[in-house]
Amino acid sequence: MSDLRETKATCCYCGVGCGVIVQSDGEKITGVRGDPDHPSNFGRLCTKGSTLHLTASPVLQQQARALYPEMRVSRDAPRERVSWDGTLDFIAKKFADTIREHGPDSVGFYISGQLLTEDYYVFNKLSKGLAGTNNIDTNSRLCMSSAVAGYKQTLGADAPPACYEDFDHAEVIFIVGSNTAYAHPIIYRRIEEARKNNRVLKMIVADPRRTDTARDADLYLPILPGTDVALFNGMLHICLWEGWIDDDYIRAHTEGFDELKRTVREYTPEFVAETCGIGKDDLLKAARWFGESKASLSLYCQGLNQSSSGTAKNAALINLHLATHQIGKPGAGPFSLTGQPNAMGGREVGGLANLLSAHRDMANAEHRAEIARLWGVDDVPAKPGKTAVEMFEAVRAGEIKVLWIACTNPAQSLPDQRLVREALEKAELVIVQEAYKTTATVDYADVLLPATTWGEKEGTVTNSERRITRFKPVLPKPAETRHDWEIVIDFARRLEALMGRDKTLFPYTNPEEIWNEHRESTRGRDLDITGLSYRILEEQGPQQWPFPEGASEGKKRLYEDGVFPTANGKAKFVNTVYRPVAEPVDARYPFRLTTGRQRDQWHGMSRTGTVAQLFSHASEPAVMMSKIDMDRRMIAAGDLVHVTSKRGSQILPVAASDDIRAGQAFIGMHWGEEYVSGRGSDGKGTFGVNALTLPAFCPSSKQPELKHAAVKILKA
Ligand code: SF4
Repeated sequence: MSDLRETKATCCYCGVGCGVIVQSDGEKITGVRGDPDHPSNFGRLCTKGSTLHLTASPVLQQQARALYPEMRVSRDAPRERVSWDGTLDFIAKKFADTIREHGPDSVGFYISGQLLTEDYYVFNKLSKGLAGTNNIDTNSRLCMSSAVAGYKQTLGADAPPACYEDFDHAEVIFIVGSNTAYAHPIIYRRIEEARKNNRVLKMIVADPRRTDTARDADLYLPILPGTDVALFNGMLHICLWEGWIDDDYIRAHTEGFDELKRTVREYTPEFVAETCGIGKDDLLKAARWFGESKASLSLYCQGLNQSSSGTAKNAALINLHLATHQIGKPGAGPFSLTGQPNAMGGREVGGLANLLSAHRDMANAEHRAEIARLWGVDDVPAKPGKTAVEMFEAVRAGEIKVLWIACTNPAQSLPDQRLVREALEKAELVIVQEAYKTTATVDYADVLLPATTWGEKEGTVTNSERRITRFKPVLPKPAETRHDWEIVIDFARRLEALMGRDKTLFPYTNPEEIWNEHRESTRGRDLDITGLSYRILEEQGPQQWPFPEGASEGKKRLYEDGVFPTANGKAKFVNTVYRPVAEPVDARYPFRLTTGRQRDQWHGMSRTGTVAQLFSHASEPAVMMSKIDMDRRMIAAGDLVHVTSKRGSQILPVAASDDIRAGQAFIGMHWGEEYVSGRGSDGKGTFGVNALTLPAFCPSSKQPELKHAAVKILKA
């Protein structure tokens, strides 16, 4: 007799964090529907979320899942099925020997914004508390680190100040560097509804491509790639000139405005219109709408973050909000949208190479001492670890010898794939902890550790509006898979024994115990969640942080009192200066290539690529070009072309697009080696759009410039 039941969970794709109700019969997932009680989506789901059950079919699971530990004895031998105990003993010994011989920084961990907060917490503790290295970074570096740095530099803490409810209170929604309609569809549905209910509400969209989001805008600014800082400084210049800034607020709650004022004096409407490639009247209109409205809300994502000026772009936009007092009130504020389902949770536990738990700074000796006390270790290393691109450079250079990759696919998602693949070949040992055996990175695994995935795990995630959801497993663990946190502690206890440590730092028997330690680490911090037990999350449903002990609810909106989490309580203006993209176009590489999300697909498609109906919008990769460029080069739609950068080349069909200006091109980020063929500039095969992208990154956030590369396009 089948055991039909429904279990609450969240969608495992984007940072909107929609609640889902998963239907199962005890052995398999049979359906999903939106959770009407979840305050992030109120029952709605997009195409990706509503087809989640199809990705969990038993046949697909059997074909695509990593179900047993595997190991290979040499690089030219195939991996073979091995036991958990033998595998963990082997890698623990390799870690211990490598650390003893070459020091703690000779090992590294590259993890994922798709891990749960509890998984993230133990990985971070393993690296910084036990192995003694800050070489732990995550694919969130490719996604959110510029937003983190932007918030910290201006507002004092990595905390998005607004919430989804603010869509209903805004008079202006300024969307920049985000195709929200495709990347965060349920947020977009909420914006559409807010526009329907509020005729005053205007939407401004700034984006190099006329996306579906841009098509709906009341005002569309087709800025040239990478010119966002000039745009925001120009809008501030106009607001200053027209008297739309709030002097009282600036005086009472901020510092550093005079220096910024001198800088933005240079950003005249003429200069900005020309730099950004937009009309002067449109620029003036955007500044007026933003500055005069009672509540302006900015939504932004990878167009700002994935840039060699990512932090400056974030800070320049926040400057504009501070100067006009568009923050800390209903319907107003800078609001970064999170790409991954739990990039926020990773930021909260400090799971990046330059952060410590609960928004503490690695550079701060007192913060390091607090974490060392909490963990029961002598100290936490002070030297910042290698960030994503730096980590793979260090592996290629032989500095990092053992690399552990969990729940992410760098052999597709990192820029400059030639670098990544050379690094993976050079490493002495590559450990891949994965639910799927089909990713490009698994091909490089010397050791494959099979992990559980969506529907099988228990723990918490935090979405874009700081809302934490707890969920329980729907199905038992398949075959010999283990939970990510279990793998970490099973390994850590072995490493502790080899390092001569008799009392374990990892005494946990379930995710709740890890969660409780994480909660305690936040006591007194801006994100204090000491009041948020598993029981409260179960009884009261998803909650926003902060939620300190004794609180009855979380905080919808931050900084309503004008007090910021800085030493003197004041927000800081950052003196932002516009700098062009890292790789400008030239005569040999005349096209500005931008990359991005396509409708219905998620990241490297290891999950969405298993659902046939999700290919109905785009069935194959293509390079999108303007008709003007196609006519000039006598290229017809469907013709094959070589798209070539200084790092590699790939062959793709051309799609004509009215959404792209002459001189620009666009390729979806999702398509990996099974869809696209190409070569690196050294003649070796490298695949997907990241054969073309460059490893340049923002000096503050270290987030790479995945959004822009100079390319040439020639008929094949
Ligand atoms: Fe999932 Fe994001 Fe779609 Fe919500 S909007 S259903 S979280 S992919």
